[in-house]
Parts: sequence; structure tokens; C-alpha cells
Amino acid sequence: SSSTTSSSALRTPPIGSDVEALNAGVNALTSVSSERSTGGYGQLHGLSIAIKDNICTSSLPTTCSSAILQQYQSPFDATVVRLLRDAGAHIVGKTNCDEFGMGSLNLNSVHGPVINPFQTAPNVPAAQMEHRSAGGSSGGSAASVAAGICDAALGTDTGGSVRLPASYCGVVGLKPSYGIISRWGVISFADSLDCVGILGKSVGIVKRVFDTVATYDPRDPTAATPDLRERACQFNSPFLSVTTSTHQPRSLEGLRIGVPIEYFPSELDPSIVDVLRTVLRRLGEAGAALTSVTVPATQYTLSAYYVIASAEASSNLARFDSVRYGLRTAPPPGANTSKSSDVFAHSRCAGLGKEVQKRILLGTYALTADAFDNYFLQAQRIRGHVRRDFDRVFRHPCALLERPFPPEDGVDVLLHPSAIRTAPPLDRRAQESHSGGKAALGLSEYLQDIMTVPASLAGLPALSIPAGTGADRWPVGVSVVGQWGCDNLVMHVGKAIE
Ligand code: GLN
Repeated sequence: SSSTTSSSALRTPPIGSDVEALNAGVNALTSVSSERSTGGYGQLHGLSIAIKDNICTSSLPTTCSSAILQQYQSPFDATVVRLLRDAGAHIVGKTNCDEFGMGSLNLNSVHGPVINPFQTAPNVPAAQMEHRSAGGSSGGSAASVAAGICDAALGTDTGGSVRLPASYCGVVGLKPSYGIISRWGVISFADSLDCVGILGKSVGIVKRVFDTVATYDPRDPTAATPDLRERACQFNSPFLSVTTSTHQPRSLEGLRIGVPIEYFPSELDPSIVDVLRTVLRRLGEAGAALTSVTVPATQYTLSAYYVIASAEASSNLARFDSVRYGLRTAPPPGANTSKSSDVFAHSRCAGLGKEVQKRILLGTYALTADAFDNYFLQAQRIRGHVRRDFDRVFRHPCALLERPFPPEDGVDVLLHPSAIRTAPPLDRRAQESHSGGKAALGLSEYLQDIMTVPASLAGLPALSIPAGTGADRWPVGVSVVGQWGCDNLVMHVGKAIE
């Protein structure tokens, strides 16, 4: 149920009644801060920011939208939260998400689904809202920005969880290069893919937050070192001289944009292609050179992603054993409780939703001696192909490689639709059966990630920008993807689109 966001559970900060009113019917927040402000006067002073509920906060619970962590309160702030507080941002509250980040529609949550606040008519009363998905898994983060609850929100993106909800809700969403923003204090789903992402109303706000949180953190062993950041900057700075002011005619002179031919699957809604075409025409008129490119391994990425992400999840989620933290449930009467493994099993069955259990089982299987070669190793091989595909199309050398040889005629960025469709309608039956994470996903939900997963496997920066509306008048996002470390270039181009 959505009990934690019901009016009785919302604490009342000075702005509480406003937040409560804005959150009504949307269910974007799982808890609301009672702090007035941090009192700091840093570069984010005056900005209110919501935090996805899988990022640890010492002042508010961190539930991961899971029954197993429903009572959990972290004793510390994640590095990203500390950086935001130090910069003077006001933390508004925690946002609803798919359980442990697993899902694409924000239906797998113990707090209930998030309802997309975008409506085709203005001022629709909560009772008459058209119920569409806010996307997932960072659905509450995207919805809280779209509903005007906060200026920006942090999400996490493992395979598309920032970009997909950004596209569905009509806001900007950045998945940065892997390792650029600290993951210390972020509850892991698949740690070789997990990135903290930023959602905001404009690229400008996203960039302000990015500039504050994208720093080296010695506590995160996968963080890009200062040397590596410096190297990426050297490689990419010449290209940042491209001006992107939309007021100047031909301001994108010198920029090369690639459109990957594999990103037009049969499932793609034709009205989304129309939006992309309009964006490309505008960018072309501003002087950008457009070309089609090919990234052939794309067809295998969804399968590879779900093997790798599930394998890592099965290991990461082993820590929820009901001993150190989290829910512990009484075994049924008569059960043999003398074995600790019985306690683990009962608590994990009761505390983890069906989709999470499915991923743990799939991931454990993929790592068994019998299946390892056929599944896990193959998936890792595909991941290598995906990386090489991207290195072959970008003109920027990859800062992670010892001796990069970028192609002469490479592109600066790629442009493609963020999703295959606009926000899917939530039918009541699906909402009820999913609510509380009781059901596992159908195949079509996995398909939602088809556009976003390749950049995740390669660790590349990707930004979804609202670019128009589909045939049903709901938002359509387009994505700009760059070489590793080219986050600023990606945002630079994003500004020309918005
Ligand atoms: N939808 C994808 C999944 O369920 C991606 C989730 C994410 O990026 N956290 O795994």
C-alpha cells in the first residue's frame, strides 16, 4: 500500500502542505523531510532536491521500495547526499522507485505505483488524472520533478532507470559516465552498471547538480581517478568550443552527430520517429553534420544486460539475510527454526518481491558451473563487442584505453529515441497485481529498456531531453550519447535540443 505517502504519514515541514498537495495522486515520495533548509550558502543554495530511496540518507528512511528494508534508516549519508547538503541544497524527501531498481514502470514498489503527473490538459484534479506509468525504476524522481515538488532529483540508472522515466514524464535525465559520480552509500543492484543519475526540468539545472556531485571519492573503489578525469577532459575539451546557442544561426558548425541505424526496431512508435526527425532537422539547420552509423552488437544487448545485471544482483542482494538489517519474519507454526538458513529463507521470501526473487534465481543460475560459460561469459563477450562498436563510431578517443585509435570520420555524439513509446497506460488490474511487488514482469516490460541498455553496458554518458509529443500528445524524449568522460559535451548538445 502507499501508506508511507498517505497524508497521515507525511510529516509537515514548512512547505509540507504544498509538497503533500503536489504529491497527492502521484505517489512520488516515500518520505518527506521536515528540515527547513540546510542553511548552507554553496553553489546549490535555494535548490530543492529529492533523493531516490536506494540512496542512503541519515535523516530519512532508505527503503529501496522493498518490504525487507521498510524500517531501515541509514546511520550515514551517501557521498552524493553529503555533497548536495554541503553545497546548500535542501533535501525535500525520498522518492518511490521499483524495488532495488528492478523494473521499468515503477510498479514493483511496496509503496504502490507512481502515477505520471503529466496530463494532456492543464489543472486536472487528482481524481480525474489519466493513469499512466511514470517509468522506472527512478519513477518517483522523474515524477517529483515533473510535478514541481523539487528543482532536481537524484536517481540511479543501471540499464535506463533515469532516462526512461525522464522520457515518460517530460523532464531531463542524465546517466553520467560510469564512475564519475560516487556510488558510496548507494545500495547496489548491479555494481558494474550502477550510476547515480540526475533529473531536472532543464539541462542547466542538471548541469549545476552534476558539477557539484561529479568529484572523485576515495571511498568508491570504482570511482574514476583524478588522473583519468583529467585525461578525459584533455581529449574532449577541443570539441566543447562548439557553441550551442539556439539563437545563433549555424551555431553547431563543426559538430558531427551520428544516428545509429539499429535504434529503430519494429516496436518503435512511428510518431517518435517524427519527433526525432524534427530535432535532427533543427540541429542540421544549426550547422551540425548528420550521418548514420552502425553499432551491430545492439541486437544482443538486452539479453546480455539481463544476464549480467541479474548475476550481480544475486550476489549484491545476498546481504539481506534478516540478520544484520532488514525484516525478519516469524516462520510458519511448526517449521523447524533451528537452522539459520530457514530464518534467512522465510525472511527473504516475505521481504523480497517476486521480480527481485526472479532476478536472484536467474542470476544465481547464470553463475552456476553448468551455465556460466553459456550465459555469463557470453554476456560479458557481448559487452566487449558493444564497447568496441562505440569506440569505432566516436571521434573522441576513449580515455579508459591505453592506446586509443579513434576513427578519422567519427562522430561527436549519437542521437536516438530514448524509448520505444510514450508512457504506457496503467490498467487497474496491473496496478493491483504489481502493487507491493507481488508479481514478476512480463516480457514487454523488459523491452522498454532496448534503447537505453547499450550505453549502460559501455559505461557511456547519456542524456534524455524532452523533444516533443507523440500521437497521443504525451512526452517523447530523445537521447544524446557520448564517449566515456564526455558528459559536458553531451549536456552541451542537449542544450541545443531543449
Ligand atoms: N529496467 C531495467 C531493469 O529492470 C533497468 C533498471 C535500472 O536501470 N535500475 O533492470
